[in-house]
Amino acid sequence: MNTLNQQYEEKVRPCIDLIDSLRSLGVEKDLALPAIAVIGDQSSGKSSVLEALSGVALPRGSGIVTRCPLELKMKRRKEGEEWYGKISYEGYEEEIEDPADVEKMIREAQQKLAGKGVGISDDLISLEIASPDVPDLTLIDLPSITRVAVKGQPVNIGDQIKRLIHKFITKQETISLVVVPSNVDIATTEALKMAQEVDPDGDRTLGILTMPDLVDKGTEESVVEIVRNEVIHLKKGYMIVKCRGQKEITERVSLTEATEREKAFFSEHLYFQTLYDEGHATVPKLAEKLTLELVQHIQRSLPQLEEQIKKKLTETQATLDKCGSGPPADAAERLGFLIDRVAAFTQDAIRLTTGEEIKCGGKLNIFAILREQFADWKNTIEVSGIIFNQNIEREVTQYEQKYRGRELPGFINYKTFEDMVKEQIKELEGPALLKLKEVADIVTKELVKLAQSSLVGFPNLISTAQNKIEAVRKEKETAAESMLRTQFEMEIIVYTQDSTYSKKLGKRKREDEQYCTLSSDSGATLREMIKHLKSYYKIAGQRLADQILLVIRYQVLQESAVQLQREMLQMFQNKAITEWLLQEDSGIRTKRIHHQNRLKRLSSARILLTDFSMKHTTSTKGFGLVSTWEGTQ
Ligand code: GDP
Ligand code: MG
Repeated sequence: MNTLNQQYEEKVRPCIDLIDSLRSLGVEKDLALPAIAVIGDQSSGKSSVLEALSGVALPRGSGIVTRCPLELKMKRRKEGEEWYGKISYEGYEEEIEDPADVEKMIREAQQKLAGKGVGISDDLISLEIASPDVPDLTLIDLPSITRVAVKGQPVNIGDQIKRLIHKFITKQETISLVVVPSNVDIATTEALKMAQEVDPDGDRTLGILTMPDLVDKGTEESVVEIVRNEVIHLKKGYMIVKCRGQKEITERVSLTEATEREKAFFSEHLYFQTLYDEGHATVPKLAEKLTLELVQHIQRSLPQLEEQIKKKLTETQATLDKCGSGPPADAAERLGFLIDRVAAFTQDAIRLTTGEEIKCGGKLNIFAILREQFADWKNTIEVSGIIFNQNIEREVTQYEQKYRGRELPGFINYKTFEDMVKEQIKELEGPALLKLKEVADIVTKELVKLAQSSLVGFPNLISTAQNKIEAVRKEKETAAESMLRTQFEMEIIVYTQDSTYSKKLGKRKREDEQYCTLSSDSGATLREMIKHLKSYYKIAGQRLADQILLVIRYQVLQESAVQLQREMLQMFQNKAITEWLLQEDSGIRTKRIHHQNRLKRLSSARILLTDFSMKHTTSTKGFGLVSTWEGTQ
């Protein structure tokens, strides 16, 4: 016995302790830990088995008694140590003084989680029991599979329960204990069907037959065959147990007494005695098997667990990086932090408006959008040029009637020439101002986007930046507008450097000379005028194509970004405002804290796992363990 105990202390205990430590770190919030879930049809004896294993009375009776998943964490204490119990759910925690209170407290917890009545809930109730009389095991009791809803239950209660059970047993980390009464045809039970759905090869399913005392006479042989794994094969096999029946409960037969009766029942049974001899019967043997299964299961899960922790750690770190570091606590450092954030943002704003790559990680590129706008402006000018050319062709043919005054044919009225040019150029003022507004809209939108991603987590800072962006936009747009208007006013002075004009004119003349022969009548003079008009308009158009965009780029992009920087940095003169600006978005803050905690948990978990594998790699193979837990209940 001593060597067995030694083995237990060396192999079983550390394994269970490891998972327990991971659990108490809260790692279960991040990933699934090896566990055993108990499933079964209604009144198949689940609670009775758990009761026998844990040594405490659990809620039971007819109808749906288990209404929330109940995690039963059992920890074996050294002989002579005290009983300890604790119930916890949804952040609530309470120690239990008296084992007799457990049932009442679970009922209360269920009412709080699933409401009064008969509904169910996914919220987990955790019951921790430490005592010399319990095995090292964690089991999860789930609501019974029901087919028909009873009075007051939602009609889909059956589906709700199935979904809940499915959620647990579908995890590869869970061993399913399928509880089936011995007097029921196991093949027809819903519980086994569900287990087989998620574990078709029966790798992580263990069958438990209950109520062997209620077996119909003559069917004992078939029960024996099932337990011997000869009917529906499960890799983990079957166990058979006898718990307290209703009569024994009414008669207040103690759990200890029940264990003795169970032993007597099996060891003396005509058919089941062999099962007892083979170690397939009784609750203590079941406890032993489960502990062993759990330990082996843990052993096998460890590599994946390590892998998962590593993966989760990377993910968590990435999320944390996205959340950004919060402001430091130290007052002096806080101002520095704020200045850094704001400076990074305004520098990015300048980069954005000059078409350089921004640093804050976002993928903003104003110029890709603006290029279209700029091309569109150039197009406007070109179209206007074409229209102008068409117009003058038409106008000039009507010149004689419309414009010719007292001058003799052949004299061109310069004023007429000027008026036509002015009129056409004036047509461009509206579109130019519209373009200014469009570009300003785009720039404002992109700058706001930049503020949102660059200053993420600081809503006051973002809204302040947004206000400043809007204000600067107004200011610079007004400035640009007045520059544009001036430009158009200047265009009224029909002017160009003579040399440029002459060159254009010369080119046009040469072209014309090739195609038409000049005559000296008034038609020729008019042709001459057309040439002048077209040449001048072309030059003016080119000038406007560049000039308008230059003004817009200067004011709406370059100057706006510089002004924004100036204004943002000026805020720091006001000490009172800096604290307000540093107020963090509560969502991001919560998210960061959540992920920081996760990071801590997972890092500790990783250390635990590494330590564990370093100590135990040599002894991980083969658990030649036998009796480790003697049912003394
Ligand atoms: P659950 O609905 O699956 O949790 O089933 P319970 O554990 O509440 O058991 C249903 C009924 O069967 C209860 O009245 C138990 O006392 C009774 N019961 C459980 N196990 C045995 C057993 O081995 N023999 C007998 N005779 N009755 C049992
Ligand atoms: Mg039950």
